[in-house]
Amino acid sequence: MNKFIGAHTSAAGGVFNAPLNAMKIGAKAFALFTKNQRQWKAKDLDTATIDLFKENLEKSAILPKHVLPHDSYLINLGHPEIDKRQKSYDAFVDEINRCELLGLDRLNFHPGSFLKKISEHECLNIIAENMNRALDVTKGVTLVLENTAGQGSNLGWKFEHLAHIIERVEDKSRVGVCIDTCHMFTAGYDIRTREAYDISMAQFGNIVGFEYLKGMHLNDSKPDLGSHVDRHESIGKGKIGLDAFRFIMNDERLNDIPLILETIDDSIWDQEIALLYSLQENEL
Ligand SMILES: [Zn+2]
Ligand SMILES: [Zn+2]
Repeated sequence: MNKFIGAHTSAAGGVFNAPLNAMKIGAKAFALFTKNQRQWKAKDLDTATIDLFKENLEKSAILPKHVLPHDSYLINLGHPEIDKRQKSYDAFVDEINRCELLGLDRLNFHPGSFLKKISEHECLNIIAENMNRALDVTKGVTLVLENTAGQGSNLGWKFEHLAHIIERVEDKSRVGVCIDTCHMFTAGYDIRTREAYDISMAQFGNIVGFEYLKGMHLNDSKPDLGSHVDRHESIGKGKIGLDAFRFIMNDERLNDIPLILETIDDSIWDQEIALLYSLQENEL
């Protein structure tokens, strides 16, 4: 077993339900929101909740490093306005602390948006600066930048954006990247054929580096290559197609990291997980 596939499971009723929901679909990894992703404030995690989460995680036999928490959609670490940026920063630090309390070692987030008010370059620098501040006041959690589709003014769709941020993060041991296949594709990186996959992944390796890869989101795409539109589709049913996922399942560089489905039909996640495992040509 070298591939750890799961899905972004529901934490409704409490974070401790996420590992149980992962077990139900045969997952070996999972993602979750540790608070309501559409609200700024959340009540602190109490000891009973934390203990039950850890107990259920052990029951699921999923390792903490195969859990990829996702932060709130409201957070924009590169916000052009100082007060709004501070609000995002405070919420971000809270998210990191929640991960640490749950015994988790990574937090997935979208880099940020320049909102057409500052330059892309300036926004990337602000994001890195806020990551450095957050790293200084927290411990044990790696900050995992997700590549985006580049919809609107969202940055992080070019591998160069991610590399620019990483270069400016002081503690390189606590910065990482999550590749979302739908975002990658709609950002313009083709992975549909063997040749295209090899070229796009080599670009990632050269510009960012696989040593920073701490997780992936496995999604097919409704929109076309380079459309910069972020709309996920079930595996094999979108514009990317099944071949790309076969390349992924047989790519040793993607071993031992959480591979998370964020596909649109959660009623078939168990089938999608089984389908992905069936694409593995041999156990390495
Ligand atoms: Zn995301
Ligand atoms: Zn994603």
